[in-house]
Amino acid sequence: MLVVKRGREKSLRARHPWLFSGAIDRIDGNPGRGETVAVIDADRRFLAHAAYSPDSQIRARVWSFDADERIDARFFGQRIERAVAARAAMLDARHTAARLIHGESDGVPGVVADRYGDVVVLQLSSAGADRWRDVIARALADTTAAQCVYERSDTEVRALEGLPPRVGVISGALPRVVTMIEAGLCYTVDVVGGQKTGFYLDQRDNRALAGRLAASKRVLNAFCYTGGFTLSALAGGATSVLSIDSAADALRVARDNLSRNAAVSRERAQWREANVFEELRALRDRGAQFDLIVLDPPKFAPTASHAQRAARAYKDINLWALKLLAPGGFLMTFSCSGGISADLFQKIVAGAAIDAAVDAAIVSKLTASADHPVALNFPESEYLKGLLIRKRSAVIAEQPKVTV
Ligand code: SAH
Repeated sequence: MLVVKRGREKSLRARHPWLFSGAIDRIDGNPGRGETVAVIDADRRFLAHAAYSPDSQIRARVWSFDADERIDARFFGQRIERAVAARAAMLDARHTAARLIHGESDGVPGVVADRYGDVVVLQLSSAGADRWRDVIARALADTTAAQCVYERSDTEVRALEGLPPRVGVISGALPRVVTMIEAGLCYTVDVVGGQKTGFYLDQRDNRALAGRLAASKRVLNAFCYTGGFTLSALAGGATSVLSIDSAADALRVARDNLSRNAAVSRERAQWREANVFEELRALRDRGAQFDLIVLDPPKFAPTASHAQRAARAYKDINLWALKLLAPGGFLMTFSCSGGISADLFQKIVAGAAIDAAVDAAIVSKLTASADHPVALNFPESEYLKGLLIRKRSAVIAEQPKVTV
């Protein structure tokens, strides 16, 4: 049993699912790693059933605020069924991939599950989730009827929970090549060695938008990974797409992905293994211009402590992208950094436009797709922030001196 300090129960009452170590008054008994404990306030009033994380600053993560709920296989079965059912409308013949479970926002802290065709990739990142691994994996296999449940519990945050990385097949057999379809386009997904669980599902809607904007456009896709935005833009009728990434293996998969889609023009694609920070400057030196630029960099600021250095990096790439954009062109720019708020990101991009001497406007704000819901009691899960920017005029001229 965890007893919360007087006055520190407010966030739990507001149904925020995290209890920080500093808010705990005392611990009755000796709960094990990931064990379910009751959390009560200073007046012994019930607050929540939670999973205990002895090593983490987030000392407990809430499974349920309902005193009568039992945290057992039935509980996980219900939560998982609810999450999977919520994605049913997002899966069809043209879309065989989606995030099925999005952690706290689906009521299962520390649990992520992504579906790629017949394969479900499970990622457990908290002590509580890890303790229920077998139950969760079985419920997922039953609910999804997937051919294989593969575990990719190798995120760095596991170390904070005192958990070693663990990867491998949990049930079924992993096909030699895992494939998925998004918006009618076929992709291979490296679930074993790829980034995250293999694919950036959160950008599904934004890739579709890029496809709509790309018709007859010269496109630059910076940080292209396995080519999601590239294929979308080509399928949307782009006249050319230059894609840049520093990871050779990602580019190899990207090329392979393009060759799997016979209807998409290969001649219009150009791939470049390079550092985006250097390549944007080099493109500018060569006088290159684009009508649509996608900037989808990795997480520069995992936490707020990295924010300042990350802000400089975001400003730099946005500045050069705005310069490379033809007047009337569109920039889709993203940050997936938890340490950079949406407000700060907008300010950084605004600063980049000033320094690039460009007049630009936000056309719309972009977020993760609907399979990455944001529970109202857990705003932290809104990590992906994007802006669709239109460059209106090339360069704001230096102001003339006024003679008086
Ligand atoms: N837009 C992609 C996901 C991008 S993930 C999609 O829709 O699938 C970020 C990518 O940036 C990774 O592939 C990583 O290899 C690449 N990357 C990280 N730092 C880089 C750098 N400095 N220059 C070029 N690529 C970089």
